[in-house]
Amino acid sequence: MSDKTLMLSIALACSIVQSPRPNVVFIFSDDHARQAISAYGSKLMQTPAIDQLAREGVRFDRHYTANPLCAPSRASLLTGKLSHINGHIDNETKFDGSQETFPKLLQQVGYQTAWIGKWHLESAPTGFNYWDILPGQGNYYNPDFINAAGTYREAGYVTNLITEKAKKWIKAASGQPFCLIVGQKAPHRPWQPNLDKLDLFADRRFPLPSDFYRDYSELNSGASKAHMRVNQDLKIDSDLLVDSPPARLDAAQKATWLSKMKGQDAEFHRRIESGESRDAVIYDRYIKDYLRCISSVDDSVRDILKSLDELGLAKNTIVIYGSDQGFFLGEFGWFDKRWFYEPSSGTPLIVRWPGVKPGVVKSVTSNIDLAPTILDALGVKPPAAMQGVSLCYLIKTKKTSVATPFYGHFYESNDGEHHVPKCISLIDGNIKLMFYYELNEWELFDIGKDKGEHRNLWGDARSADLRKRMVNLLLGTQRKYVETPEIIEVTKRSLLREHV
Ligand code: CA
Repeated sequence: MSDKTLMLSIALACSIVQSPRPNVVFIFSDDHARQAISAYGSKLMQTPAIDQLAREGVRFDRHYTANPLCAPSRASLLTGKLSHINGHIDNETKFDGSQETFPKLLQQVGYQTAWIGKWHLESAPTGFNYWDILPGQGNYYNPDFINAAGTYREAGYVTNLITEKAKKWIKAASGQPFCLIVGQKAPHRPWQPNLDKLDLFADRRFPLPSDFYRDYSELNSGASKAHMRVNQDLKIDSDLLVDSPPARLDAAQKATWLSKMKGQDAEFHRRIESGESRDAVIYDRYIKDYLRCISSVDDSVRDILKSLDELGLAKNTIVIYGSDQGFFLGEFGWFDKRWFYEPSSGTPLIVRWPGVKPGVVKSVTSNIDLAPTILDALGVKPPAAMQGVSLCYLIKTKKTSVATPFYGHFYESNDGEHHVPKCISLIDGNIKLMFYYELNEWELFDIGKDKGEHRNLWGDARSADLRKRMVNLLLGTQRKYVETPEIIEVTKRSLLREHV
């Protein structure tokens, strides 16, 4: 982008306020749990910029990801379809970029579209006038980027670099309506904070969550076998970075890292040697690094909002903050995602829409709703083939009476690193049904009364009517979303065996 283009864009920015066609900036982080956002009541940290967005916008309290894994979530965001329809069922699949996506439809009506940052869909982006992405998972420090011209390396910290690229693109694009997705890599594993965040929380001790020592016998038989336990499966060097600065640091960055972390590393060992709970020390280190990564994401939100203000674009730009899914922050004793339990499938979503009254949406919503919502908000009718529904009415009215049952399906092979069983999930209001079809096991929770998902009501005779209602709703929802005949058959066979 030349300086001349930038200057021209600055001049044009003054006229955009009058434009009737709003812009969209969607800041889309990776693995950011609601439990780490103060607007969602986090006790762990403050996120002032995301909170500002929530104060001025609409916060979704019951938003879920239909396949709680990085790449499938991105595919559903783009297509408005479930994984079995868009074909992107797990992280090993390559996204079919020839299919219809919301950015392509926006281009057809004159929008400029861009994706900057983490993409993680393996195939080259389609439907974007501009893209500048991380290869694969990308790196936190001195990351490579790929754009239409090729691969290049940037010196610095990934969250800040993506933010600067986003700001630069907005400035240049602001002569005509635009839709930008800012894909932050943070706070994805391995949690490598920026150098300026390493002192954050250094003097604080984070206690173990109350259900850290979860009784897995309350849950399906796969839960005790999953490899995602904070106290067993996190690696002291590559995950917790104890005595192990990230390999990509340059000499100066490494010197700063060591000067800030040497004392914290020594403290880590001292606490364990002094007989303190090893689990507590590991959790404390894990959560600090995770939250430090979030702090840079919050700064990114702050800087992008400020930039929109300065360019005179804030009044005409819908700003969305979301993540590809949630994350376990020690709940159930776990890190990572993949399950349909609340900390993982539950996902933050905040929409600041100029002219729309701030508030809270308590209805259950799905990430397949994002594409039709953005289209609808920008005046484009969502195609019938999209399986999600526009949330614009909910955003404007906050009515709780409007609700579509949530349907999710997690496919990743059980041979993967985390050994999480495949699962189908249905949520209707406060009732959540989960079917682990490889295990032929079912779970039924009333999360209104049992937020921690401790009491599986599936085998409870008093819940027979509820079970029947949910099972019928599940079969109807599977038909509605054109689930594969194999899965419908597996579901029916299991129900016969369970005598439901
Ligand atoms: Ca993710």
